[in-house]
Amino acid sequence: MVKTYTYAAQDPKAKLAPFVIERRDPGADDVQIDILYCGVCHSDLHTARNEWANTLYPSVPGHEIVGRVTAVGANVKNFKVGDLAGVGCMVDSCQQCASCNEGEEQYCENGFTGTYNGPVFGGENTYGGYSTQIVVKQQFVLHIGHPEKHLAAVAPLLCAGITTYSPLAHWKTGPGKKVGIVGLGGLGHMGVKIAAAMGAHVVLFTTSESKRADGLRLGAKEVVVSKNPEEMAQHASSFDFILNTVAAPHNLDPFLNLLKRDGTMTLVGAPEHPHPSPTVFNLIFKRRSIAGSLIGGIRETQEMLDFCAKHNIVSDIEQIDINYINDAYERMLKSDVKYRFVIDIASLKKEAEAA
Ligand code: NAP
Ligand code: ZN
Repeated sequence: MVKTYTYAAQDPKAKLAPFVIERRDPGADDVQIDILYCGVCHSDLHTARNEWANTLYPSVPGHEIVGRVTAVGANVKNFKVGDLAGVGCMVDSCQQCASCNEGEEQYCENGFTGTYNGPVFGGENTYGGYSTQIVVKQQFVLHIGHPEKHLAAVAPLLCAGITTYSPLAHWKTGPGKKVGIVGLGGLGHMGVKIAAAMGAHVVLFTTSESKRADGLRLGAKEVVVSKNPEEMAQHASSFDFILNTVAAPHNLDPFLNLLKRDGTMTLVGAPEHPHPSPTVFNLIFKRRSIAGSLIGGIRETQEMLDFCAKHNIVSDIEQIDINYINDAYERMLKSDVKYRFVIDIASLKKEAEAA
C-alpha cells in the first residue's frame, strides 16, 4: 500500500481538509499516476456536501485528473513510465454487459465504479484526484496528445469536455445546425468551444450579463441573456439542439419554446433539487424531446481528447493551490468561475512534505 495525501470532506458540513489514505500497489493491469493537476467540477461540490444524498465519507473528490505515469503492471502495453496520462469520472465497470461491450461504460448495467464515491450502486468507497497519486486499471486511463505546457488546461476535458462532447456528437451537431448551450460555467464553456469546432451555429444562453463578451470570444455566434424575455423570443422555434448545463433548478419552458419541431434539449446539469415540471403542450405540439446524458465512454473520451488536441481546444482555467478549494466552491456557487478551477497538485505535495 502507498501512503497518499489528499483533501477530503468528512461530512456534508465540513470544509475539505488534509487527509491521508492508502492506495493499492499497482497490479498487473494497473497504471500508477503521479497527479500533476486536477480540475474542480460542480459534481465535486454536490458530492462533498451530499447534495445527491449518496455520499460515502470521507469524500475525496476530483475526476479531472492529469499526471505522469510512474509505474505500470506486467500486462500494460499502451502506457510506459514517463507518459502523460488522464483519468476521468470512471475507474472500472463490469466490462461484460451490453453497454460496456459497446464502449458506453458510463451506462454499465451493473454500475460503473466512480473515480470517487465508489460504485454507483453501493460498495467500497473510492478516492479521487484531490490527491498526490492514483492507481487505475489500464482500460480506464487516457492518453494526452496536447503539448505538455497546456497540461493544466487539459484536465477539465476529462469531465467537462467529455460530458459536452458526447451529447453534441450523439445528437449530430455540425455544420448547418443551430445549437444552444445553456450556462457558461465549466461544462458550458467547453460545450461552446466544442460545438463551434464541430461547425455548428452556436448560441450561448447565460444568466450573467457580464459573460456576453466571453461567450463570443469562446466561439458562440450569438449570446442571449436568458433573463430577458424579448431576447429569448427572437429565437422562438429555431434550434435543432440545446445542451443545458445549469447546476440549479430552473424553468425549462423558456428553452423548450426555442426548439424547432423534433428538436431536443438534453440536460447534463444535475441539480440538488428537481426542475419544475415543464409544460406538456410545449412538447407535444412540436414533437420536442427532453433528454439526459451522462459523461461519455472511455473510447469516446479518447476521441474527444484527440479532437480537442487537433483543434487546439483546452479549458479556460484559474489555477489554484489546494488550500483554496473551499473558497473555490463558494465562488462556483456564485457562478464566479472563469471557467474552471484547476488545482496545482504541487501545492498538495508541498503540504505533504511539511506535514
Ligand atoms: P458550474 O461551473 O458551476 O457552471 C454552472 C453554470 O450554470 C453557471 O456558471 C451559470 O452560468 C449557470 N447557473 C448556475 N446557477 C444558475 C441558476 N440558478 N439559474 C440559471 N443558471 C445558473 O458547474 P459545472 O461544473 O459546469 O457543472 C454543471 C452541472 O452539470 C452540475 O450540476 C454538475 O454536477 C453537472 N454535471 C453533470 C455531468 C453529467 O454526466 N451529466 C457531468 C459533470 C457535471 P451563467 O452564469 O452563464 O448563467
Ligand atoms: Zn465532473
